[in-house]
Amino acid sequence: MAKTLVFGHKNPDTDTIASAIAASYLLNETGNDTEAVAQGTPNAETQFALDYFATAAPRVVSSADTDTVVLVDHNEAAQSVDNLADVTVTGIYDHHKFAFTNSTPLYITAKPWGSVATILYYEFKQADVEIPSKIAGLMASAIISDTLLLKSPTTTTYDKPALEELAKIAGIEDYEKYGLALLKAGTDLSSRTDKDLIDGDAKSFEIGGHQFRIGQVNTVDIDDVLSRQSGIEAAMLSEGYEDFLFVITDILNSNSKAVYLGDAAETIESAFGSKLANNVLDLPGVVSRKKQVVPPLEKQF
Ligand code: ZN
Ligand code: ZN
Repeated sequence: MAKTLVFGHKNPDTDTIASAIAASYLLNETGNDTEAVAQGTPNAETQFALDYFATAAPRVVSSADTDTVVLVDHNEAAQSVDNLADVTVTGIYDHHKFAFTNSTPLYITAKPWGSVATILYYEFKQADVEIPSKIAGLMASAIISDTLLLKSPTTTTYDKPALEELAKIAGIEDYEKYGLALLKAGTDLSSRTDKDLIDGDAKSFEIGGHQFRIGQVNTVDIDDVLSRQSGIEAAMLSEGYEDFLFVITDILNSNSKAVYLGDAAETIESAFGSKLANNVLDLPGVVSRKKQVVPPLEKQF
């Protein structure tokens, strides 16, 4: 029988890659036959973590070449493999809102915690399976990435103890220091094209009948990114979405600005209580797309 594929969302981030690797390992240790794969190559931040913990990037797939799959870090079809409807989902580990309908019974472990890696840390404990140090390092990296070093409002009381324990297993002496290096590795944007910038961490959503594309990029200097605004806007327009919001997040000061292109400027302004100036919206204190960008849009539209 073919292996069950374990994978995260399109435009993979560190949590998606690390959690696929960790979940696959856990499943194999508990009597399953799985392979961790990814819907894309690792971004610079994830590659930093993979290099640091001497782990190969998972094989890239665009559709599942098996009958059974396990989803991590996503559950919406729009963020999954092209042939999701043709395969059986046997399990989901996720921390996003649910937009999933199942035709067969399946394992679902969903908790509103900071990262899927956090959820998996407790799953390992529950199953009494030891976490190998390299995988622990990747899981620690995933928690750091998704919670912006425990500073994002998505952070819960479960994330810090998991991060501390995983850092210990991985031999990370100072996780703040490692975490800053990891996050900074993802902010070297100079070599990336405008298209890559807006697509690198973009997700599609249907919000109030609008086809929304929401991209996000981490930086240590928002103005530096905005110096490329005209190129960024041209890239956003060329993708042809009804509404495109590109969120630029300052990981050091936990603030964002967003470039918006679409025909719902007034609704966007009231959703965030902020005026658009030259297509740019000021989003003080906003760092989380999931918790601080999508919900106000859903409420307003
Ligand atoms: Zn993710
Ligand atoms: Zn995640």
